[in-house]
Amino acid sequence: MNREAIDALLDKLSAPSAGQPDPRTQAIVGRIVRDLFYTIEDFDVTPSEFWSALNYVAEAGPEMGLIAAGLGFEHFLDVRLDEAEAKLGLEGGTPRTIEGPLYVAGAPEADGHARLDNGESPGETLLMQGRVLGDDGQPVPGALVEVWHANHLGNYSYFDSTQPPFHLRASIRADADGRYSFRSVVPVGYSVPPAGKTQQLLDRLGRHGHRPAHIHFFVSAPGHRKLTTQINIDGDPYLWDDFAFATREGLVPDVKRQPQHNGNAFGIDGAFAQIEFDFHLLPEHASAPAAEIERLRAAA
Ligand code: FE
Repeated sequence: MNREAIDALLDKLSAPSAGQPDPRTQAIVGRIVRDLFYTIEDFDVTPSEFWSALNYVAEAGPEMGLIAAGLGFEHFLDVRLDEAEAKLGLEGGTPRTIEGPLYVAGAPEADGHARLDNGESPGETLLMQGRVLGDDGQPVPGALVEVWHANHLGNYSYFDSTQPPFHLRASIRADADGRYSFRSVVPVGYSVPPAGKTQQLLDRLGRHGHRPAHIHFFVSAPGHRKLTTQINIDGDPYLWDDFAFATREGLVPDVKRQPQHNGNAFGIDGAFAQIEFDFHLLPEHASAPAAEIERLRAAA
Protein backbone atom coordinates (compact mmCIF):
# COMPACT_ATOMS: atom_id res chain seq x y z
CA MET A 1 0.00 0.00 0.00
CA ASN A 2 1.15 3.55 -0.56
CA ARG A 3 1.11 6.21 2.16
CA GLU A 4 -2.17 7.70 0.93
CA ALA A 5 -3.94 4.36 1.08
CA ILE A 6 -2.52 3.68 4.56
CA ASP A 7 -3.61 7.14 5.79
CA ALA A 8 -7.12 6.61 4.38
CA LEU A 9 -7.35 3.27 6.17
CA LEU A 10 -6.10 4.84 9.41
CA ASP A 11 -8.74 7.59 9.17
CA LYS A 12 -11.40 4.90 9.12
CA LEU A 13 -9.83 2.92 11.97
CA SER A 14 -9.41 5.90 14.29
CA ALA A 15 -12.94 7.33 14.07
CA PRO A 16 -14.54 7.42 17.56
CA SER A 17 -17.37 4.92 17.95
CA ALA A 18 -18.45 5.48 21.56
CA GLY A 19 -18.08 8.61 23.68
CA GLN A 20 -15.56 11.43 23.47
CA PRO A 21 -11.91 10.50 22.88
CA ASP A 22 -9.19 11.96 25.07
CA PRO A 23 -7.48 14.18 22.47
CA ARG A 24 -3.91 13.64 23.68
CA THR A 25 -4.29 9.85 23.90
CA GLN A 26 -6.01 9.78 20.52
CA ALA A 27 -3.25 11.85 18.89
CA ILE A 28 -0.36 9.86 20.39
CA VAL A 29 -1.87 6.41 19.78
CA GLY A 30 -2.78 7.48 16.26
CA ARG A 31 0.79 8.55 15.61
CA ILE A 32 2.30 5.33 16.99
CA VAL A 33 -0.08 3.12 15.00
CA ARG A 34 0.61 5.09 11.83
CA ASP A 35 4.37 4.78 12.34
CA LEU A 36 3.99 1.03 12.85
CA PHE A 37 1.81 0.65 9.76
CA TYR A 38 4.50 2.49 7.77
CA THR A 39 7.18 0.25 9.32
CA ILE A 40 5.27 -2.92 8.39
CA GLU A 41 4.80 -1.63 4.87
CA ASP A 42 8.37 -0.37 4.36
CA PHE A 43 10.00 -3.53 5.69
CA ASP A 44 7.37 -5.86 4.25
CA VAL A 45 6.89 -7.37 7.71
CA THR A 46 5.22 -10.79 7.40
CA PRO A 47 2.25 -11.81 9.57
CA SER A 48 4.47 -14.38 11.30
CA GLU A 49 7.04 -11.70 12.13
CA PHE A 50 4.29 -9.42 13.45
CA TRP A 51 2.85 -12.08 15.79
CA SER A 52 6.33 -13.08 16.89
CA ALA A 53 7.00 -9.44 17.86
CA LEU A 54 3.66 -9.16 19.66
CA ASN A 55 4.39 -12.32 21.65
CA TYR A 56 7.83 -10.94 22.50
CA VAL A 57 6.30 -7.78 23.99
CA ALA A 58 3.71 -9.80 25.91
CA GLU A 59 6.35 -12.12 27.39
CA ALA A 60 8.81 -9.29 28.10
CA GLY A 61 6.43 -7.75 30.69
CA PRO A 62 8.62 -8.05 33.80
CA GLU A 63 11.69 -6.83 31.89
CA MET A 64 10.12 -3.78 30.24
CA GLY A 65 12.03 -1.47 32.62
CA LEU A 66 15.32 -3.01 31.47
CA ILE A 67 14.31 -2.84 27.82
CA ALA A 68 13.39 0.86 28.22
CA ALA A 69 16.89 1.47 29.62
CA GLY A 70 18.64 -0.68 27.02
CA LEU A 71 16.94 0.95 24.05
CA GLY A 72 17.87 4.36 25.42
CA PHE A 73 14.36 5.59 26.27
CA GLU A 74 15.29 6.36 29.87
CA HIS A 75 18.40 8.32 28.84
CA PHE A 76 16.40 10.13 26.17
CA LEU A 77 13.87 11.26 28.81
CA ASP A 78 16.79 12.55 30.92
CA VAL A 79 18.20 14.56 28.03
CA ARG A 80 14.77 16.08 27.36
CA LEU A 81 14.47 17.12 31.03
CA ASP A 82 17.96 18.65 30.87
CA GLU A 83 16.91 20.63 27.82
CA ALA A 84 13.68 21.86 29.44
CA GLU A 85 15.62 23.02 32.51
CA ALA A 86 18.32 24.73 30.45
CA LYS A 87 15.65 26.75 28.61
CA LEU A 88 14.54 28.09 32.01
CA GLY A 89 18.10 28.91 33.03
CA LEU A 90 18.29 25.94 35.41
CA GLU A 91 21.87 24.80 34.94
CA GLY A 92 24.92 23.85 36.96
CA GLY A 93 23.42 21.10 39.13
CA THR A 94 24.78 17.60 39.47
CA PRO A 95 23.90 15.82 36.20
CA ARG A 96 20.85 13.59 36.40
CA THR A 97 20.94 10.07 35.09
CA ILE A 98 18.58 7.15 34.87
CA GLU A 99 16.78 5.68 37.90
CA GLY A 100 16.54 2.15 36.51
CA PRO A 101 13.92 -0.34 37.71
CA LEU A 102 15.49 -1.45 41.03
CA TYR A 103 14.60 1.24 43.59
CA VAL A 104 12.58 0.07 46.60
CA ALA A 105 10.65 2.64 48.65
CA GLY A 106 10.65 2.48 52.43
CA ALA A 107 14.35 2.19 53.31
CA PRO A 108 15.04 3.05 56.96
CA GLU A 109 16.03 6.67 57.56
CA ALA A 110 19.32 7.55 59.25
CA ASP A 111 20.61 10.87 60.55
CA GLY A 112 23.75 11.99 58.72
CA HIS A 113 25.37 8.58 58.37
CA ALA A 114 24.32 5.03 57.59
CA ARG A 115 25.97 1.67 57.22
CA LEU A 116 24.45 -0.07 54.19
CA ASP A 117 26.05 -3.53 54.37
CA ASN A 118 25.41 -6.07 57.10
CA GLY A 119 29.09 -6.94 57.59
CA GLU A 120 28.73 -10.28 55.83
CA SER A 121 28.87 -9.04 52.26
CA PRO A 122 32.29 -9.64 50.68
CA GLY A 123 34.04 -6.77 48.96
CA GLU A 124 36.17 -3.72 49.49
CA THR A 125 34.98 -1.42 52.29
CA LEU A 126 33.60 1.84 50.92
CA LEU A 127 33.20 5.18 52.64
CA MET A 128 31.34 7.77 50.60
CA GLN A 129 30.77 11.24 51.98
CA GLY A 130 30.01 14.78 50.92
CA ARG A 131 27.51 17.59 51.13
CA VAL A 132 24.21 18.53 49.55
CA LEU A 133 24.46 22.08 48.22
CA GLY A 134 22.00 24.51 46.66
CA ASP A 135 22.66 26.54 43.52
CA ASP A 136 24.02 29.34 45.71
CA GLY A 137 26.71 26.93 46.92
CA GLN A 138 25.22 26.92 50.42
CA PRO A 139 24.50 23.66 52.26
CA VAL A 140 20.98 22.24 52.23
CA PRO A 141 20.41 21.03 55.82
CA GLY A 142 18.04 18.10 56.16
CA ALA A 143 18.20 17.10 52.48
CA LEU A 144 17.26 13.45 52.00
CA VAL A 145 19.87 11.27 50.26
CA GLU A 146 18.37 7.95 49.20
CA VAL A 147 21.01 5.47 48.07
CA TRP A 148 20.85 1.95 46.66
CA HIS A 149 23.38 -0.31 44.98
CA ALA A 150 24.21 -3.89 44.04
CA ASN A 151 26.27 -6.37 46.04
CA HIS A 152 29.48 -8.21 45.07
CA LEU A 153 27.49 -10.40 42.67
CA GLY A 154 25.74 -7.46 41.03
CA ASN A 155 22.42 -8.24 42.74
CA TYR A 156 20.00 -5.91 44.53
CA SER A 157 18.23 -6.74 47.76
CA TYR A 158 14.45 -7.29 47.45
CA PHE A 159 14.89 -8.52 43.86
CA ASP A 160 17.50 -10.96 45.23
CA SER A 161 15.74 -12.70 48.09
CA THR A 162 18.99 -14.10 49.52
CA GLN A 163 19.85 -10.61 50.88
CA PRO A 164 18.21 -9.16 54.00
CA PRO A 165 15.49 -6.50 53.56
CA PHE A 166 16.94 -3.12 52.52
CA HIS A 167 20.50 -4.49 52.37
CA LEU A 168 22.67 -1.90 50.57
CA ARG A 169 19.85 0.65 50.67
CA ALA A 170 19.30 3.64 52.95
CA SER A 171 17.67 7.06 53.30
CA ILE A 172 20.17 9.44 54.88
CA ARG A 173 19.08 12.80 56.29
CA ALA A 174 21.88 15.35 55.71
CA ASP A 175 23.00 17.21 58.86
CA ALA A 176 22.86 20.94 59.61
CA ASP A 177 25.86 21.49 57.29
CA GLY A 178 24.28 19.45 54.50
CA ARG A 179 26.70 16.59 55.17
CA TYR A 180 25.92 12.96 54.50
CA SER A 181 28.07 9.84 54.63
CA PHE A 182 27.68 6.11 54.37
CA ARG A 183 29.75 3.00 54.81
CA SER A 184 29.21 0.06 52.49
CA VAL A 185 31.06 -2.31 50.18
CA VAL A 186 32.15 -1.27 46.68
CA PRO A 187 29.56 -2.59 44.21
CA VAL A 188 30.46 -4.42 41.01
CA GLY A 189 28.87 -4.07 37.60
CA TYR A 190 26.10 -6.38 36.46
CA SER A 191 24.29 -7.58 33.38
CA VAL A 192 20.71 -8.14 32.30
CA PRO A 193 19.53 -11.73 32.92
CA PRO A 194 21.39 -13.82 30.30
CA ALA A 195 18.35 -15.97 29.46
CA GLY A 196 15.85 -13.09 29.59
CA LYS A 197 13.88 -11.16 27.00
CA THR A 198 16.18 -8.09 27.16
CA GLN A 199 19.27 -10.15 26.33
CA GLN A 200 17.34 -11.93 23.56
CA LEU A 201 16.71 -8.55 21.90
CA LEU A 202 20.25 -7.27 22.54
CA ASP A 203 21.68 -10.42 20.90
CA ARG A 204 19.68 -9.66 17.76
CA LEU A 205 20.98 -6.08 17.84
CA GLY A 206 24.62 -7.13 18.31
CA ARG A 207 24.78 -5.46 21.72
CA HIS A 208 25.85 -6.49 25.21
CA GLY A 209 23.75 -6.01 28.33
CA HIS A 210 26.46 -4.96 30.83
CA ARG A 211 26.36 -2.05 33.25
CA PRO A 212 29.51 -0.63 34.86
CA ALA A 213 29.62 -0.55 38.69
CA HIS A 214 27.51 2.31 40.02
CA ILE A 215 25.57 3.65 42.99
CA HIS A 216 22.05 5.10 42.63
CA PHE A 217 20.75 8.23 44.36
CA PHE A 218 17.64 10.30 44.85
CA VAL A 219 18.47 13.62 46.51
CA SER A 220 15.54 15.77 47.57
CA ALA A 221 14.82 18.84 49.69
CA PRO A 222 11.94 21.33 49.84
CA GLY A 223 12.34 24.19 47.37
CA HIS A 224 14.77 22.18 45.21
CA ARG A 225 14.30 19.97 42.20
CA LYS A 226 14.58 16.30 43.03
CA LEU A 227 17.82 14.84 41.66
CA THR A 228 17.84 11.30 40.28
CA THR A 229 21.39 10.22 39.55
CA GLN A 230 24.19 7.67 39.89
CA ILE A 231 27.90 7.79 40.43
CA ASN A 232 30.16 5.33 38.66
CA ILE A 233 33.08 3.47 40.21
CA ASP A 234 36.10 4.65 38.23
CA GLY A 235 38.16 1.99 36.46
CA ASP A 236 35.29 -0.31 35.49
CA PRO A 237 35.91 -1.74 31.97
CA TYR A 238 32.34 -0.78 30.95
CA LEU A 239 32.58 2.74 32.41
CA TRP A 240 31.84 4.40 29.06
CA ASP A 241 30.15 1.40 27.49
CA ASP A 242 27.00 1.12 29.64
CA PHE A 243 24.15 -0.76 27.94
CA ALA A 244 21.77 1.75 29.59
CA PHE A 245 23.75 4.86 28.50
CA ALA A 246 23.78 6.25 32.06
CA THR A 247 27.45 7.29 32.46
CA ARG A 248 27.83 11.06 32.26
CA GLU A 249 30.64 13.57 32.70
CA GLY A 250 30.64 14.75 36.29
CA LEU A 251 29.45 11.44 37.72
CA VAL A 252 32.78 9.59 37.92
CA PRO A 253 34.44 10.71 41.17
CA ASP A 254 37.97 9.70 42.15
CA VAL A 255 38.21 6.58 44.30
CA LYS A 256 40.99 7.03 46.87
CA ARG A 257 42.44 3.84 48.29
CA GLN A 258 43.20 4.56 51.96
CA PRO A 259 45.34 2.25 54.10
CA GLN A 260 43.29 3.00 57.21
CA HIS A 261 40.88 5.56 58.61
CA ASN A 262 42.30 8.25 60.87
CA GLY A 263 40.67 7.69 64.21
CA ASN A 264 38.78 4.59 63.01
CA ALA A 265 35.65 6.64 62.40
CA PHE A 266 32.50 4.78 61.35
CA GLY A 267 34.07 1.60 62.70
CA ILE A 268 36.30 1.18 59.66
CA ASP A 269 39.23 -1.04 60.48
CA GLY A 270 41.93 -1.41 57.84
CA ALA A 271 42.05 -0.39 54.18
CA PHE A 272 39.03 1.13 52.45
CA ALA A 273 37.98 2.96 49.29
CA GLN A 274 36.97 6.58 49.81
CA ILE A 275 34.74 8.63 47.55
CA GLU A 276 34.00 12.29 48.20
CA PHE A 277 31.09 13.70 46.25
CA ASP A 278 28.91 16.79 46.68
CA PHE A 279 25.40 16.88 45.24
CA HIS A 280 24.37 20.22 43.72
CA LEU A 281 20.60 20.72 43.61
CA LEU A 282 18.75 23.12 41.32
CA PRO A 283 16.03 25.38 42.72
CA GLU A 284 12.44 24.35 42.03
CA HIS A 285 10.80 26.27 39.18
CA ALA A 286 7.04 26.47 38.62
CA SER A 287 7.36 26.22 34.82
CA ALA A 288 9.74 23.25 34.75
CA PRO A 289 8.46 19.72 34.07
CA ALA A 290 8.17 17.70 37.29
CA ALA A 291 11.48 16.28 38.51
CA GLU A 292 9.51 13.91 40.75
CA ILE A 293 8.80 11.19 38.22
CA GLU A 294 5.67 9.07 38.61
CA ARG A 295 6.45 5.44 37.93
CA LEU A 296 5.53 2.09 39.40
CA ARG A 297 8.10 1.25 42.07
CA ALA A 298 8.60 -1.58 44.51
CA ALA A 299 7.94 -0.82 48.18
CA ALA A 300 8.75 -2.87 51.25
FE1 FE B 1 21.71 -0.26 39.13
